[in-house]
Amino acid sequence: MKKKCIALYSGGLDSILAVKLMQEQSIDVVAVNFCTPFFGYDVLLNPEKHREYHQKTYGIHITPCDFTEDIIDVVSNPEHGYGKNLNPCIDCKIRMLKRARSMLEEMDASFVVTGEVLGQRPMSQRRDAMNLIEKKSGLKDILVRPLCAKHLPPSLPEQLGIIDRERLLDAAGRGRKTQIELALKYGIEPSAIPNPAGGCLLTDEQISRKVRSTFERFRPGKPSRPDIVLDIAGRKFMLDENTVLVISRSEDENRFLASLVWPGNVFLKIADVPGPLSIVRGDLSEENLRIAAALCLRYGKGRGTAGHVAVYGPDPESMTGTVDAPVVEEDFCRRFQIDLNK
Ligand code: SF4
Repeated sequence: MKKKCIALYSGGLDSILAVKLMQEQSIDVVAVNFCTPFFGYDVLLNPEKHREYHQKTYGIHITPCDFTEDIIDVVSNPEHGYGKNLNPCIDCKIRMLKRARSMLEEMDASFVVTGEVLGQRPMSQRRDAMNLIEKKSGLKDILVRPLCAKHLPPSLPEQLGIIDRERLLDAAGRGRKTQIELALKYGIEPSAIPNPAGGCLLTDEQISRKVRSTFERFRPGKPSRPDIVLDIAGRKFMLDENTVLVISRSEDENRFLASLVWPGNVFLKIADVPGPLSIVRGDLSEENLRIAAALCLRYGKGRGTAGHVAVYGPDPESMTGTVDAPVVEEDFCRRFQIDLNK
């Protein structure tokens, strides 16, 4: 067995500490950062910047890994169900660990490490769920959870003395006291200690509702990456059964939407007054483009005034098509808003 492992690294405090606990024992760690539009998307968009940040702040070299197709597959039909929202945590963890297992040989690593803490998360960090995850991922005996190792049977690397079990922890439950003390001991600046929110959008109620409706729309198939990305930003409308309109709500969202230059996305905005950028995806009929223009007008500076025109095109830099933007009332807009109470 080699003194080298793959760690599931989310950038959260527990995963940082799991890596540090291994590094402290001179174990070589490949910190794999699985990313999707629902978590770690910034990393996918700008891996170099994030590599530098994690190296400089925590002394951890991260290996970003696109997990989007996996998460689409897992969300569409999780064997072990969802958590409170659309988060299929048990299946998601199993899939990540299977991916990590498949990388062991290539990385010349012998075991896998996670920052899981017994009893910290209601769905995936109960003892029975942790056992199930270990078994189903095919990592029996070679999955190490350094933060709570002392509550678990010794893994093979511990039995073989590759890892000194005495230097692993016995953290349990939702408290963070042990973890914060350890972070400070490792010299991590208090301002660089990540907050506990986690940041997975599948645990967000409103976003989960949008994502759920997208998955329903594509059944028995699955949505593609561009379809789900439209659920993580902006105001969403359905112009007909298959046509989505997303209107940005801020400068940041304008920039985000502008980056989504993908086949099938059409950008639209009001030409002569400041207002939000929007994306239409689906049936680009004249009627749908007119409705999109009307809704865009409603959320921009030209609201309520007649005579405006919208421009549209496949790229925010080349919007050469034009369509009238009629003035419409609030009730009209509501007809197309997706019901977030379902
Ligand atoms: S919170 Fe999100 S990223 Fe974490 S295990 Fe659950 S679904 Fe996966």
